[in-house]
Amino acid sequence: MRSISVFGSTGSIGESTFDLLMRQGGPERYRTVALTGGRNVARLAEQARSLKAELAVIAEARLLPDLRAALAGTATECAGGPMAVAEAAERPADWIMSGIVGAAGLAPGFRALSHGSVLALANKESLVTAGPLLMARARKHGATILPVDSEHSAVFQALLGENLATVEHITITASGGAFRDWPMERLAAATVAEASCHPNWAMGQRITIDSASMFNKALEVIEAKEFFGIDPDRVEVLVHPESLVHALVGFRDGGMIAHLGAPDMRHAIGYALNWPDRAHLPIARLDLARIGSLTFRNPDPARYPALRLAREVMRIGGLAGASFNAAKETALDAFIAGRIRFTDMAAVVEKVLDRLSATGGLGKVPDSIDMVLDIDGQARRIAAETMQ
Ligand code: NDP
Ligand code: MG
Repeated sequence: MRSISVFGSTGSIGESTFDLLMRQGGPERYRTVALTGGRNVARLAEQARSLKAELAVIAEARLLPDLRAALAGTATECAGGPMAVAEAAERPADWIMSGIVGAAGLAPGFRALSHGSVLALANKESLVTAGPLLMARARKHGATILPVDSEHSAVFQALLGENLATVEHITITASGGAFRDWPMERLAAATVAEASCHPNWAMGQRITIDSASMFNKALEVIEAKEFFGIDPDRVEVLVHPESLVHALVGFRDGGMIAHLGAPDMRHAIGYALNWPDRAHLPIARLDLARIGSLTFRNPDPARYPALRLAREVMRIGGLAGASFNAAKETALDAFIAGRIRFTDMAAVVEKVLDRLSATGGLGKVPDSIDMVLDIDGQARRIAAETMQ
């Protein structure tokens, strides 16, 4: 029986993973070692019951008594707090979904790599903040990291059987987000509700807002560089409003391989779950004759300053990714709380990067997760000061 764990089980990625696990045989086919949630006790308990999980962990420690009450009478062990989430990752499982949002997903994903199993990585922040450390740990323990971000899963699939040395470029597509057609002068007044509506994908609120600002695409460019080990100049972004082509790989003989599919994360999750096989998945099939045309355009640098910042982060390397992500998360929190405007987010991130590069330490290559978490803390403090 295949053993699995899902981190961030109650989120958008987590729910899609749960859906596939249940469709593919549920507890008859999978032994669920651990499920974790942040605050949603009721949903975590329901999932734990359905999958007969051995362990359920709620990251918000004060909610542990509620989780225990919700799982009373079951054999599921309960735990609470961030340490318990990280410890759950030490329990061996054949397949582990890293689906927590933000830098909070780094420690559990890093620890999970010690089993030499498969880590399905949705948490792109792990690669952005600590890519080299993660990849080295996977190599050391013989673990496999499979990308779950739709664009990176698409590139991974387009590269099957190919030699990376023959790749000229990797192009990831972007929908352009909620405001792609808004007049620029309206952006400063954009509300949280408006930024939280994605034109094509149903995702968690944070990544949806990051799609509107293209901070999500900025993270993904860095993610592609770290995952595929490709020169940053060869990673490109194309706006593709239909979100049907997820990525294209261009080779030195002039050929390109594109990956197409409906915008449904269950494709990339299901691909990672069944890899190296392909299982039947409940994904809508594309009727290209009915769709008729697909459109592409270059991203407007003035509308999406996050893309320029990502290039700067890749140029600096070292701790710049962790600083960028932490500053972005802090600015996003402030936007969601109504303390700054939509267009202030990029300005805050840029100020944090400037302040930290002035200290000269940003290019240092981290040799431990603690170093990454330390700069993460510093970047959050500076971002908070900048917004006072
Ligand atoms: P959601 O916000 O929907 O879910 C996040 C999950 O993480 C929830 O289970 C949440 O718990 C949990 N969580 C939140 N904060 C913490 C914390 N501090 N400690 C432990 N657990 C926590 O996010 P998404 O599912 O949208 O995104 C998850 C990851 O996948 C992100 O890295 C995102 O960039 C990536 N991704 C997502 C895609 C999507 O389609 N949604 C597409 C591609 C990548 P709770 O809800 O119980 O509070
Ligand atoms: Mg993506």
